[in-house]
Amino acid sequence: MPDPMMNKNGMVSNIHTRIRTDPFTSNYELLGRELGRGKFAVVKKCVEKATGKEHAAKFLRKRRKGEDCRLDILNEIAVLESAKVNPYVVALHEVYETNSDIILVLECAAGGEIFNQCVADNDEAFTEKDVIRLTRQILTGVACLHRNNVVHLDLKPQNILLTSATPLGDIRIVDFGLSRRMDSVTEVREILGTPEYVAPEILNYEPISTATDMWSIGVLTYVMLTGESPFLGDSKQETFLNISQVNVDYSQDAFEGVSSLAVDFIKTLLLKNPRKRATAEECLNHPWLNGPTDPYPHLLASSLPSLDEPETSLSESEPESPAPSPELEIMGSYITCPVQGDLKTGRNAFSFPSEPFPTRPEIQQELIC
Ligand code: ADP
Ligand code: MG
Repeated sequence: MPDPMMNKNGMVSNIHTRIRTDPFTSNYELLGRELGRGKFAVVKKCVEKATGKEHAAKFLRKRRKGEDCRLDILNEIAVLESAKVNPYVVALHEVYETNSDIILVLECAAGGEIFNQCVADNDEAFTEKDVIRLTRQILTGVACLHRNNVVHLDLKPQNILLTSATPLGDIRIVDFGLSRRMDSVTEVREILGTPEYVAPEILNYEPISTATDMWSIGVLTYVMLTGESPFLGDSKQETFLNISQVNVDYSQDAFEGVSSLAVDFIKTLLLKNPRKRATAEECLNHPWLNGPTDPYPHLLASSLPSLDEPETSLSESEPESPAPSPELEIMGSYITCPVQGDLKTGRNAFSFPSEPFPTRPEIQQELIC
C-alpha cells in the first residue's frame, strides 16, 4: 500500500524524532574541528555536555538556491529513523532546528571516509582482506536498506565512513540526502551525484532501482582494491562516455596483487543492464566474500531486523555556509522501480540507448555543475 506520507518523489516526510528548538549550543559544545562538508552541509565534531559523549553535528541549510528544502531534510531523517537497527548505517541521536538550519546529531564515525585509505600510500592502503570485510559490511547494510525498499543513490567513498581508521574499524553508511523509498513506482526529478559514481541509467534518464546502488558498489569495490576510479576521465564528458560504454580496465596491471575472484565480483556489478547486476543478497553469496582465506563469519543480511520504531528525541546552532562542492547536479525525470529486475521505462523517462551520452546536447544542457 502506498505510504500516505510519501510524496510523488518517493520522499517520506513523517518523522518520529522530536525536532528540538532550544539552542543546540546549550546542550552541545562544538569542537571546532570540521569533519567534512558537502554541497549543502557542514559536519562538525561536538560533545554532548550532559554525557561528555562525542557526536557529529550535520548542519543542513533549509534554503538552497532560494528554495525551501525542509522536506528533503525530513526525508533524510525519516530514512535514518527507518534504518535505526541497521548496524552499518550511522545512528541518529537528536535533531535541532534553527531559523536557517536543521542539525542532525549523529554518531561520530571517528575513522573518517574510506576515501582517505583508498587513495593512501601502500602501507596505509587497504589489503584485499580488509576490502573483503568492508565490502561485506557495506553489502549487509545496503541489503538491509533494499529489503526495506530504500535506495541510497549516493554510495561513494566519501559517504562510507569508518568507526576507526587504526585499527581498521567497521563501516558506517552516511548521507541519505538523495535516498528514496521504492515502495511504489515514483518519479524522481533531481539527482545530485558525483560523476564518477553514477550509474549509466542515471545518465540515460532511465528508471532507477536498487540496482543503481549496486553499480555504485561495483565502483566502490574497484576503488578500494586498486586506488583508481574506474570511469574517471580527463573531463566530465569523457567520464560519462566511459560510464555509458562501461569502459573498465580489468587488466592485470590495474589489479596487481588482487585475486581474480575480486575482479569477477566487480564484473557482476559493473553491467550496463541493471536487471543483470547482482543484488546485494546475491553479492553476499559470491565466492570472493566467502573464500577459505576469509576469517570472518558470514553475516547474512536477511538475519538482520527490518524496520523498527524510531526513538523520540529532542533543538539551534550556528548557521553555516558550506562552500560550493564540485558535485554534479542532474535535473531530470526518473522513474523509480520497487524491485530490482522489474524495470519498466516510465512515461516521463528519457532514453537514448543507441548513442553515447556526450553526443546528446539536449542532455548536456541538463547537467549543472
Ligand atoms: P552531504 O550531504 O553534504 O554530502 P554528508 O552527510 O555526506 O553531507 O557529510 C559530509 C562529510 O562529512 C562526509 O563525507 C564525511 O566526511 C563527514 N561526515 C558526515 N557524517 C559524519 C559522521 N557521522 N561522523 C564523521 N564524519 C561525518
Ligand atoms: Mg556526502
